[in-house]
Amino acid sequence: MVMNRITDLSIENNPLELVTLPDPVPGEREILLEVTTCGVCHTELDEIEGRTPPPHFPVILGHEVVGRVVETGTGTNQYKRGERLGVGWIGSACGACEYCLSGNDNLCPDFKATGRDIHGGYAQYMTVREDFAFPIPESFSDLEAAPLLCAGAIGYRSLKLCNLMDGQQLGLTGFGASGHLVLKMAKHLFPGTRICVFARSPEERQFALELGAEWAGNTEETSPEELHAIIDTTPVWKPVVEALNNLAPGGRLVINAIRKEEVDKEYLLKLDYPGHLWMEKEIKSVANVSSNDIREFLLLADKMQIKPETEEYPLEDANIALMELKNRKIRGAKVLVMK
Ligand SMILES: [Zn+2]
Ligand SMILES: [Zn+2]
Repeated sequence: MVMNRITDLSIENNPLELVTLPDPVPGEREILLEVTTCGVCHTELDEIEGRTPPPHFPVILGHEVVGRVVETGTGTNQYKRGERLGVGWIGSACGACEYCLSGNDNLCPDFKATGRDIHGGYAQYMTVREDFAFPIPESFSDLEAAPLLCAGAIGYRSLKLCNLMDGQQLGLTGFGASGHLVLKMAKHLFPGTRICVFARSPEERQFALELGAEWAGNTEETSPEELHAIIDTTPVWKPVVEALNNLAPGGRLVINAIRKEEVDKEYLLKLDYPGHLWMEKEIKSVANVSSNDIREFLLLADKMQIKPETEEYPLEDANIALMELKNRKIRGAKVLVMK
């Protein structure tokens, strides 16, 4: 399923096209994967609608890829044929800059994103640099593993960036694929922490309560207690301003979004310095995901037995899955299955 151009999804519902391409050939230090599943991420909407446009077309989207090694290129030695590997948003980085050398290859100026700068996993085959492919623990099915690679790994990074201590209160604004995994993770890592969820859809709020949230309310509601950290996984601005209202002194709002939409940007004019920012409240963004995040998170997910809720679609229904995501018809993570 290839993307040929930027599309306005409010006008057109079929942004991707099903085509037959030659099988890719692994280059130096690359391996060829036969893809079995690929998660559908909100970032694909950002690419399709031009908020983080691919640099060239056509491009194959998809960065929550699970597949098996079918061929290894020259200079590879880590994996053998038949091994099951996962690929996330980080497709490659330089390996030599100050960010790469300090474990923050997500900030590398030469960062290449899977399924944007290089072809991704909305396909039967893809190539990947072997040092950016990660073994998947056996306890996960291909379907369960896909959302862990982005929503899960970046949720893990967001939670790390919260600097939360057990017993402090956590908020989540938005409750899609990443939000529900963060809730499960937070309950495991911080058993004494109470979690409040802000979501505009009643279904999402109900889902949060079923998964163990202490409280769930609408975006502009006030949480029953002040929160030490809040993770925002929404694509818009209103939840950012509203979240700052609920933040405790010294608290940190972590925005986990690659881009924010322009639709409600004027909401930022409601930002009130004493109410929203004073008392040392902080705002921090999350950029990409490092290779360490993916590696660490897959081990944590195995230990915790985090099983994401998934909805399954055949590859050729990628446009349907994307439009449902666009229209916030979400219950768990959407995953494309290749056969
Ligand atoms: Zn993603
Ligand atoms: Zn680098």
